[in-house]
Amino acid sequence: MKEITPGKLMGTWCLLMVSLPLAIFWIRPDFIGGRTTAAVLKLSVVLAAVSAGGVAFTYGLARKWSLPTRRYEEFIAALPAREVELPEGGPPELQSLSRAMKGMAERVRHVVEQTNLESLRRETILACMAEGVLAVDKELKVIFCNDAFAHAFGTRTPVPEGRTLYEIVREPVLRDILEQVLTTGTAERDRLQLPSAAGRWFEVRALPLGGLPRRGAVVVLHDVTDIQRQERVRKDFVANVSHELRTPLSAIRGYAETLLDGALEDPEHNRKFVEIILSHATRLNNIASDLLVLSELDSNETALMPPERIPVLEIIDSAIHTVESSAATRGVRLQKTDCHDCWVMGHRFRLEQVMINLLDNAVKFNRSDGDVTIECAATDGEVRISVTDTGIGIPSDELDRIFDRFYRVDKSRSRPAGGTGLGLPIVKEVIGRMGGEVSVESQLARGSRFTIRLRSA
Ligand code: ADP
Repeated sequence: MKEITPGKLMGTWCLLMVSLPLAIFWIRPDFIGGRTTAAVLKLSVVLAAVSAGGVAFTYGLARKWSLPTRRYEEFIAALPAREVELPEGGPPELQSLSRAMKGMAERVRHVVEQTNLESLRRETILACMAEGVLAVDKELKVIFCNDAFAHAFGTRTPVPEGRTLYEIVREPVLRDILEQVLTTGTAERDRLQLPSAAGRWFEVRALPLGGLPRRGAVVVLHDVTDIQRQERVRKDFVANVSHELRTPLSAIRGYAETLLDGALEDPEHNRKFVEIILSHATRLNNIASDLLVLSELDSNETALMPPERIPVLEIIDSAIHTVESSAATRGVRLQKTDCHDCWVMGHRFRLEQVMINLLDNAVKFNRSDGDVTIECAATDGEVRISVTDTGIGIPSDELDRIFDRFYRVDKSRSRPAGGTGLGLPIVKEVIGRMGGEVSVESQLARGSRFTIRLRSA
């Protein structure tokens, strides 16, 4: 572009100044001579020439300025994606404007890059979150919904922006909470069971987007189903323990009071009463030890001890030795098959406890003159230990409940036998922690078979 310098402007001005007296000098004779028509004609020619020159000058000037102006427009429109070439030369004003615009473009690009990076970071974090996050505008149209939220409600991902809340989740309670936040502008918090999320429990937090309800609201769902279940199990457990302790405690207290009230001197009953107290105290002791075992298992204490390679035969022999006398008292025969070459990894005292619990039950719930058979075999990298009895059996509809804590099929039979209802839960817990499984088959009045499957070591 050619520059418009002060010299050029001065030259143009001087040209005009010179041409003006020349024009007057050209028109003047006709004017004085009364040749009005010729004078007017010449004046018109002069005016036309001047205006043509003016138009040409303005056009040239406009062209000179419009080209860079268009470039600047294109430059701004293309930001921040690309940079349009700006005029290099030109008047100093345009050059400094170009420099300023390039600097501005640099800053705009930096800010946009930072913003993009920030939103990418935020989106990645939200997408990875285990908590469900949903943001809506003030008309309850979805602005953002992460995968965890969509999965919780079985919605396909990605959720397109602009969907209404009801298209994503048909949960009136969530809608109410969000509406509440949009109206009051205050955060809401609640623990809810949401039927449309397969009945799972959620800790729900809703708050205005960016602190301003007119921008919308965001709701965060934290799945607390497991915590809720654990809390219920804990409450049930405490209730069960209290219930289990109350019976022997009140019996001990009752018989002790009876003895003090005079029965102590009654030779016919005093020994019997003390024996009853002893049996209830034994039961209390059994409950306390079983609870201790379960609490150790729950707190995973044995995980700190390295597992060892255990010969199953030794464990079986030791367990048989423990229950031998009670089996003899009840007239139950104990037999075992060849258990050589059966090795498993685990904690010896725990596996022994498992075997004692199973054998104790097999004896306790057997008929007199019944049999208990212990079999053990190692095949395909797996050791199977089974305890079969010829006892009362377990009703089929109770089979999957007998591993629950404090569950007993026949309380009147288990309690007098010193049962705590914690033997099988201990078996299941220990075997589970050893990476194995325990199963049961049973036929009423025919007997039961408990089978343990463990990886061979
Ligand atoms: P308990 O201390 O009462 O024996 P367990 O947890 O060991 O508690 O067993 C739970 C219940 O399962 C028992 O009360 C009993 O009703 C039933 N059960 C367990 N083993 C046998 C078995 N071998 N034969 C019949 N019933 C059994």
